[in-house]
Amino acid sequence: MSNGQIIDGAAYAEQLRQRLAQHVSDLTAAHGLVPCLVVVIVGEDPASQIYVKSKGEQTRAIGMESRTIRLPDTTSEAELLHLVDELNRDTAVNGILVQLPLPKHMSSLKVIDAISADKDVDGFHVVNAGRLAVGLEGIVPCTPLGSLMLLKDAVAKNNDTLAGKHAVIVGRSNIVGKPMAQLLLNQDCTVTIAHSKTRNLAEVCREADILVAAVGRPRFVQGDWVKDGAYVIDVGINRIQIDTPEGPKSKVVGDVDFDAAKDHARAITPVPKGVGPMTIACLLNNTLKAFCLQNSLPVPDGV
Ligand code: NDP
Repeated sequence: MSNGQIIDGAAYAEQLRQRLAQHVSDLTAAHGLVPCLVVVIVGEDPASQIYVKSKGEQTRAIGMESRTIRLPDTTSEAELLHLVDELNRDTAVNGILVQLPLPKHMSSLKVIDAISADKDVDGFHVVNAGRLAVGLEGIVPCTPLGSLMLLKDAVAKNNDTLAGKHAVIVGRSNIVGKPMAQLLLNQDCTVTIAHSKTRNLAEVCREADILVAAVGRPRFVQGDWVKDGAYVIDVGINRIQIDTPEGPKSKVVGDVDFDAAKDHARAITPVPKGVGPMTIACLLNNTLKAFCLQNSLPVPDGV
């Protein structure tokens, strides 16, 4: 059965934020503590500035404390590491996020490694990656976590189950592809990770009951790569130029050819308003989780 249900990530993210706001309000009333997220941005990258602004607004909107530390791109790596060290030791700070990409003279691996794993709300620290790999409680990267939430919801709405399904993930980055594979393995899926050296990619994709595209190429996954009845999660965010009667315009598209794929898929995330809105909502989720774990409080159900 393939009926191209559209997975509404924007609506799901809104509901998630409402649930998180309630948890924050309950925790604050019970313990007099407010979770605090600090976002550090180095330099003036325009896209990063927009993301950081949005993170701050959404953090405050659910009742958490948000601090943004803006540093010039002349900041040295040693100065940034010193700041991270201070934030690690500040007990009022529950989550630390250093916005990527960093200026070229800094090693993002080194900076991420310097963040305390317990405050690493991006879930990029090697300790959190290791915890996920061995199935221990930890902080999971936001985009794959949000993707899994949407997938689980779509599967449940179809009275279906994840266990035993063949999931194909196109992309093997540390922030999306690999953690997504671990999450689906933990859900008892049979997981294939495809990448730029994969042979016969179209055939591999056609085997998928669950197809996750995290490639970074506009409309790369073709409609006829999607098996009838598959669940399709499109993580891609690509800005392209299109011609309109009013002249060239820019448009955001995913890594899947949505119009062609939706006729095959049982359920599919659109771009925009699919996985995208889940990323910041999951950052708030992770901040709340980090706060609970740091204060030895039970992590609320679903967080
Ligand atoms: P990366 O560039 O780090 O990884 C891309 C992956 O795709 C690599 O593993 C690469 O393979 C693989 N790939 C590239 N070309 C091909 C090809 N021709 N055939 C098969 N595989 C290929 O990207 P990210 O994981 O960071 O991001 C992926 C997408 O998700 C992007 O569009 C990005 O904008 C989006 N994104 C969206 C987020 C959100 O909030 N929704 C957050 C993060 C990312 P190889 O390893 O062999 O090079």
